[in-house]
Amino acid sequence: MLVLFNGQPSLLTVGIPWFLRSLFKNEMGAEQSNETYMSTWSDESGDQYWADFESKPFSSGAFRHAFKGHLHGRGPRGGDQCVVKVFKREYAKHITDWTVDVATSKKAQSLATKFNEAVPSTRSLKFMTPMVAKMEKRAGFKLLWIFDIPDEDSAKIVFPNEYVCMEPFLTGTYQKFNANNGWVNPNMNVSLIPAFSHWTWAHSGGKYLVCDIQGVRDDDEYLLTDPAIHSDEAGTYGNADLGPEGMEAFFSTHKCTEFCKNLHKPRNIRRPRRIRPSPGTTYGFTL
Ligand SMILES: [Zn+2]
Repeated sequence: MLVLFNGQPSLLTVGIPWFLRSLFKNEMGAEQSNETYMSTWSDESGDQYWADFESKPFSSGAFRHAFKGHLHGRGPRGGDQCVVKVFKREYAKHITDWTVDVATSKKAQSLATKFNEAVPSTRSLKFMTPMVAKMEKRAGFKLLWIFDIPDEDSAKIVFPNEYVCMEPFLTGTYQKFNANNGWVNPNMNVSLIPAFSHWTWAHSGGKYLVCDIQGVRDDDEYLLTDPAIHSDEAGTYGNADLGPEGMEAFFSTHKCTEFCKNLHKPRNIRRPRRIRPSPGTTYGFTL
């Protein structure tokens, strides 16, 4: 059945026998991967990239699917592995939906830069800055090099013209160090990361607290992604910003380390009733 899809001729293959599909794929066109347009904003070095990525996600969170891919562009990261994040179908996929994620990562990185200078350690902290790009092509098969046959798995979760987010792929053992609800990884003998969360609160005069810290540790740095920020007004940094209650949740379980023992702490810390420590991220709308 030939239909117009998003203004382009597209062949829907529902009902086409598998042997014909296989013939199409072997002889009559070209395979294509998911591809974005060039990123809307530059990365921290001023370079722009686009990405191609696999048709199936390697992991899925509460709001998003994550795919493995590669960056392309003239900057030094061209050819690097990346992670492309796509909102789940039930959530909107506009560029503004990504601005909170980008703002959270940039704020966390700006605080980490100051922390690295203020608190010398053998390792520094670095938060990945996401780039946002619009989808150009979806994975599938180009029959006769003209008609799009979308990949069935990909077609259910990646949509034309939606905005997606690209981040560097972190190689190494991925670990979650703390959550945004007071949970601290019990298997983690790391004193710098909890101290960073405490420091962000003390340094900002109680305005911000960066937590939900996850990523990989290498010889001289922690490469981190997907942080949450509690701010003095819950929700400013998205659904994971639990505001002053989130800050209380952090301090109710926090044990100071050698890096933060001299910092100011809030008085009369009580565990908030509505927030329970757990490894997953707690979202404001679930409270
Ligand atoms: Zn502390």
